[in-house]
Amino acid sequence: MIRFEYLEPKTLKKASSLLHQHGKEAMIIAGGTDLLRQLKLRTVRPRFLINIKPILPIDRISNGSGAALKIGAATTIGSIEHSPVVRAKSFALYEAAHALGSPQIRNLATIGGNLCNAAPSAETAPVLLARQAKAHISGIDGSRIIDLESFFLSAGKTILQKGELLSHISIPAAPAGSGEAYIKHGMRSSMDIAVVNVAAFITLTPSGNKARQCFISLGAVAPKPIRAYRAEQIIRGNAPSEKLILEAARLAVEEAQPISDMRASAQYRKDMIAVLTERALKLALERARLSLKH
Ligand SMILES: Cc1cc2nc3c(=O)[nH]c(=O)nc-3n(C[C@H](O)[C@H](O)[C@H](O)COP(=O)(O)OP(=O)(O)OC[C@H]3O[C@@H](n4cnc5c(N)ncnc54)[C@H](O)[C@@H]3O)c2cc1C
Repeated sequence: MIRFEYLEPKTLKKASSLLHQHGKEAMIIAGGTDLLRQLKLRTVRPRFLINIKPILPIDRISNGSGAALKIGAATTIGSIEHSPVVRAKSFALYEAAHALGSPQIRNLATIGGNLCNAAPSAETAPVLLARQAKAHISGIDGSRIIDLESFFLSAGKTILQKGELLSHISIPAAPAGSGEAYIKHGMRSSMDIAVVNVAAFITLTPSGNKARQCFISLGAVAPKPIRAYRAEQIIRGNAPSEKLILEAARLAVEEAQPISDMRASAQYRKDMIAVLTERALKLALERARLSLKH
């Protein structure tokens, strides 16, 4: 029998001070879909569980000031999936939310839990990296904002320090002429974590001839979700031709460090990175062209 004390702070400040007070003996619980399994397997043994769901401001989706989207860490994946604001502002985030687990899991699982669990395959991470999202971190001395890319250190490890928790994430507004896409490849048709997941975000010039901006990110192919910088670079500033997209897909493979595990071999993952990067780029491009017409 696992024994722990269950705490329900009413404010972010109180949650941080409890985390600080109890140090490594305390853990945040949000939806519990990752944590309860870890408790059962005894890979974690906290003495205090701090439930952050009752802290209302961190369970919201809103149009942030100067940002396209502000999403509280305790917002469920289901709320993200069903939010018209998310669909309008980041269609790829909707695609990622829809791809996570089953409806039952999505009703419990939170975006904060998905990111703080720091699995290399985390469903929401590639889209958020491609959209240049910021992580808003709350601690006993106030809050700090960092690029989400710096949030992940390695599998299961984040930059969060003693007494800190993720309060929300923000996504900058997409410029006119932008399109994005998220594609997940699992070994089963549903309820499977990604073997490879890819997100692409492209902004075209007003004429539609060139890519003004391009961001590509990959999951499950390195110890943490990563950006494919060299792949992005050859698209940026150029006409995104078929040849260039294939070259970007080849570079994305080179930038990844996939391993072989029970789900797939490293070679299979490499093959899938090429296929998914090409597909995600083409889809993002198609959507960017459509957005220029509207
Ligand atoms: C059947 C099943 C299917 C699944 N399928 C998928 C899938 O397809 N894709 C996928 O990516 N994941 C999947 N998962 C994993 C899981 O559902 C997600 O990672 C989920 O988003 C975790 O959110 P949670 O709120 O349940 O996190 P919790 O389990 O509550 O917490 C996870 C970790 O994050 C920490 N934490 C949570 N919130 C914060 C915060 N705000 N600040 C600091 N630390 C925090 C907790 O202390 C804990 O260490 C699946 C899980 C199950 C059981």
